[in-house]
Amino acid sequence: MNLLREKMMKYDAPQRAKAAGIYPYFRAIESDQDTEVVISGKKVLMFGSNAYLGLTNHPKVIEAAVAATKKYGTGMAGSRFLNGTLDIHIELERKLANFMNKDEAIVFSTGFSVNEGVLGCLTGREDYIIWDERDHASIIEGLRTSFSTKYKFRHNDMAHLEKQLKRCDAQSVKLIVVDGVFSMEGDLTNLPEIVKLARKYNANIMVDEAHSLGVLGKKYSGRGVCDHFGLLGDVDLVMGTFSKSLASIGGFIAGDYPVINYLRHNARTNIFSASITPAATAAATAALDILKSEPERVKRLWELTYYAINQFKERGFELGPTSTPIMPLYVRDNDKTFLITKMLFENGIFVNPVVSPAVSPGDTLIRFSLMATHTIDQIDFAIENITKIFKKLDLL
Ligand code: PMP
Repeated sequence: MNLLREKMMKYDAPQRAKAAGIYPYFRAIESDQDTEVVISGKKVLMFGSNAYLGLTNHPKVIEAAVAATKKYGTGMAGSRFLNGTLDIHIELERKLANFMNKDEAIVFSTGFSVNEGVLGCLTGREDYIIWDERDHASIIEGLRTSFSTKYKFRHNDMAHLEKQLKRCDAQSVKLIVVDGVFSMEGDLTNLPEIVKLARKYNANIMVDEAHSLGVLGKKYSGRGVCDHFGLLGDVDLVMGTFSKSLASIGGFIAGDYPVINYLRHNARTNIFSASITPAATAAATAALDILKSEPERVKRLWELTYYAINQFKERGFELGPTSTPIMPLYVRDNDKTFLITKMLFENGIFVNPVVSPAVSPGDTLIRFSLMATHTIDQIDFAIENITKIFKKLDLL
């Protein structure tokens, strides 16, 4: 008997969803990736992307990727540490450090591997990592590989964070790790209070800016949540990814020289993994340049965000605490969440179904996300359709 196969056969949730005709995953896009995409030969409006600035098909980003491929080739046959560093990796790191007002930055192969690698090596057995229960899976992966003591605090519950900080040894490193914008619910971390508590208990802070880079920041800077609160200088480590606003793949961590120097030589996901391709590096650099020089894109994203949040609220949707382009439409039932995804797709709208473990089992939702390139007409069309379907299923 093939024990592995037998064991895997028991995992039948996808087959059941397929049999019910509501399987929502791996829908292959056959076109470019702006606000309208083609899937199975059908045009649909994309309201499930994290490309918040809509730069994935920007001519300058594409040209930069093509030019880098022509100059350097297609792949990287080694890690940054050894034979995998190009001058354009260093240029991108310099630009990122500059943008984030930090000494230095290191580029990793993905955002996931930044969190995994940084948290896995930065603090030791004698130290503590204190984390928000809704932090991204990549942070949790990092915690799993860390030898430090880990204390979880209830989502954005500052009294609970303080209680956890009190449990730590005053002489040990205490690293508080939070998402800047929580990826499924779209709410912001309470950074001002976290900074106060960090000062009181002599703790350090790391913020994941995956969904805030290119979105938040003073005067539409797109620098992220730390800049939004004017607290960049109080945050020790800022993590970001290229897979969302920066129209590429890869991630980075920025901070003070001694910390980044340590990470450069110790983060295993960086040392033992090939660096990002020339095309990905050049695309991220070009997107960052556009972000810096065209704040009107961020401004537009916010106009659309306020518009859509108001439209949903006027129709009675329960949106939770979002204040960003990520809008959770709570369904609280797995099958209905899949069914709505399918019905919307049939009506020409792509959204993402979000079920456990991305959210707790009782909080399943449709994740509706905006890009700066959406039009008001597209948003109106989507919201009208979503409203009709939610009403039909007695959810409104
Ligand atoms: N952090 C957060 C908060 C995320 O949402 C994600 C990806 N969804 C990541 C990290 C990982 O980034 P990447 O997809 O670039 O690996």
